[in-house]
Amino acid sequence: MAKILDSKEICRGFEDEIKEKLRALPQLCLASVIIGRNYSAKTYQNSQKQTADKLGIKYLAVELPSDISFKDFNSEISKLNQDKNITGIIINKPFPEKWKDVEVFCLLDENKDIEGMHPANLGKFLIGEPRYISPTVGSIITLLNNSGLKPYGKKATVVGASLLIGRPLSLWLANEFATVTIAHIATYEAGGLEECLKGADIVVSAVGKPGLIKGEWIKKGAVVIDVGTGERNGKIAGDVEFEKAKEKASLITPVPGGVGRLTTMLLYRNLLKAAGVRF
Ligand code: NAP
Repeated sequence: MAKILDSKEICRGFEDEIKEKLRALPQLCLASVIIGRNYSAKTYQNSQKQTADKLGIKYLAVELPSDISFKDFNSEISKLNQDKNITGIIINKPFPEKWKDVEVFCLLDENKDIEGMHPANLGKFLIGEPRYISPTVGSIITLLNNSGLKPYGKKATVVGASLLIGRPLSLWLANEFATVTIAHIATYEAGGLEECLKGADIVVSAVGKPGLIKGEWIKKGAVVIDVGTGERNGKIAGDVEFEKAKEKASLITPVPGGVGRLTTMLLYRNLLKAAGVRF
């Protein structure tokens, strides 16, 4: 039976550190943009706001209509870039289907891009000198470090290959000398997911499809980090069949209560970095 790695304790440590550093700073403000109505984006925004309130950080929720043109969206982001009262900006996914992630993230002032998604920030991550590590990736790394399992020489499978999570995390795992497999939509369509998970000591799933990863596919003793936040019966649910997977894994993160909570805390840690704080 797996140990369930709840992130509450780890979060508390970060929270204390952030509160301490905030004492020496002027009021910080995070602007968080969502486009249209989306359950998981709204859930994430709500948890960002709760954490901002707890930390004493100003929070500006920017809700834009789903049919906004890219030109108008660009103007909205420019205003936030230029606003001296705003310390950091995040643009929550999903974006309108026709927009490419990279086009959206390019609109951000790279100094306010606290998710580290602007190409300049991704480039710094690629060369191993990150300014901002994406909070989700930072959260996964923190949880893996807490699992006690060293990636060196281990087989790791990352499901989902987005610019935000799957691709940067795979790179980090490879830099830590894990042997990495990246599974994505084409792997799924070719019926290859199960094969990719066989033998994986580390499984990270970041797709957003509840129940995608079957419990019986998990290797005995594997560490399983579930990043997915889909919706099932009106509740937030991870990608992994939790009840079955916990019988096989040595350690597993719950949804909610695992990656998500920590991600929000690391977002604010990055906000402090945007205000010039060094950690
Ligand atoms: P995304 O950009 O939609 O990426 C999902 C990835 O999964 C894409 O590479 C996609 O491929 C792939 N994919 C889609 N269906 C698949 C399938 N059936 N099998 C294998 N791969 C499949 O989403 P994201 O921004 O990376 O977020 C992923 C999940 O993490 C979402 O549920 C999101 O809500 C959640 N999330 C959680 C946190 C947290 O802190 N807990 C933070 C951010 C995001 P294609 O693009 O080619 O279809």
